[in-house]
Amino acid sequence: MSTEEDPFENFLETLDEAAERLNLEPNIHAFLRRPMRTLSVAVGIVHDNGEYNIYDGYRVHYNDIRGPCKGGLRYHPSVTLNETIALAGWMTIKCAVVDIPYGGAKGGVKCDPTKMSRTEIERLTRRYIYMILPLIGPEKDIPAPDVYTDERVMAWIMDTYSIFKGYAVPEIVTGKPIELGGSLVRKYATGKGVAVVTQKTMEHLGIRNHPTVAIQGFGNVGSWLAKFLYEMGYKVIGVTSVDGGHFDKNGLNIPQLFQHFYDEQPWSEFKGTDFIEDVGEANKALFESDVDILVPAALEDQITERNANSINAKVLVEAANGPTTPNADWILNEKGVFVVPDVLANAGGVIVSYFEWVQDTQAYLWPEAQVNKELEAVILKAYNEVSHLSKKEEITMRSAAYCQAVERLAKAIQLRGFFP
Ligand code: NAD
Repeated sequence: MSTEEDPFENFLETLDEAAERLNLEPNIHAFLRRPMRTLSVAVGIVHDNGEYNIYDGYRVHYNDIRGPCKGGLRYHPSVTLNETIALAGWMTIKCAVVDIPYGGAKGGVKCDPTKMSRTEIERLTRRYIYMILPLIGPEKDIPAPDVYTDERVMAWIMDTYSIFKGYAVPEIVTGKPIELGGSLVRKYATGKGVAVVTQKTMEHLGIRNHPTVAIQGFGNVGSWLAKFLYEMGYKVIGVTSVDGGHFDKNGLNIPQLFQHFYDEQPWSEFKGTDFIEDVGEANKALFESDVDILVPAALEDQITERNANSINAKVLVEAANGPTTPNADWILNEKGVFVVPDVLANAGGVIVSYFEWVQDTQAYLWPEAQVNKELEAVILKAYNEVSHLSKKEEITMRSAAYCQAVERLAKAIQLRGFFP
């Protein structure tokens, strides 16, 4: 991994820049540069064929200065402790940007869930939760879905935790099935939030008339985002996934692709598009396409100094966490690309997770329309604050978002004081 692609280094670089801009007190800056607690666990499971394997797992509490730690759980072959720390750091910033009373956490298991059966994933999940039990709880750390973990996984988390408690604890996890106390909006919340932020950006920049979009990733976030933007009149001209990319310069039929995907049909068998099977080639074509908006919605470090110059989009909306390295960010800024940073753009997921947790702790389910209304209100308030600061200080939206968050975190640290 080059230094440019070290996600925690990238997180620190942006944090340090905000600290310098704010003339942050050195003790507070030092406090914010380190995760407060990291746990590495050995997640051993017996596979369906009787083989026993041990996977590396992690749970990181970046800090809980503004409230209980909150963050997703990722199953992916590239999971490392370093990446998990970076993701927990971004969660800390994100919760502060949108001003919800949470700290930041993240978890991960280094494995390839696409090569595991449902029962193996269930055993992996239950063992992982058992191993991190001392860290989690509705008042201290509430996990949620992330890459390759879904509501089924969240249901197993709730069940495992509840068994150890001896009673049902729905508020231990968010992104659960609705039948177990999940939010009516959670499954599409991140995509919806990105769509709201994208629309606000189009209004802000005066881009009208069916803006064109290219989306990398067609999982939870990318698929719902594509659906919402299509319904709002945007023209989605390309989408990629690990299995290749579908392109149509006149606009893809997103409702059909969405259905195809959720019917679990092979990605390559969707007909009527220009299909590029090789993922590297597909992403290259996607990133270079002449569109109004490019949305990375897959993994971190996708836009680096190697490909940033060839991006032709007017706007980059970061649906994924950490998709752009600081060097690439600098290049995009020089090129005049308007970047909406991840800590703002994809905050819809954690905002609705927060509502789900509030509903569970009160044992009172909100109607879908109310959750959507409050999601929009919270994310638009944050967008307006960041945009205002960015204009006032003549800084990028990313710098403004970090400054906003770091100020809130610094204030909370000052109020709580250093112990002992
Ligand atoms: P997911 O597992 O549901 O989907 C990931 C998608 O990315 C899949 O379509 C996969 O095929 C694709 N992908 C992976 N590597 C790729 C590559 N090299 N090229 C093209 N496509 C590739 O995950 P998700 O929940 O949609 O999360 C996507 C991103 O959004 C992650 O960065 C995650 O941290 C972030 N995020 C997710 C949520 C959430 O609520 N799920 C909230 C905030 C941020």
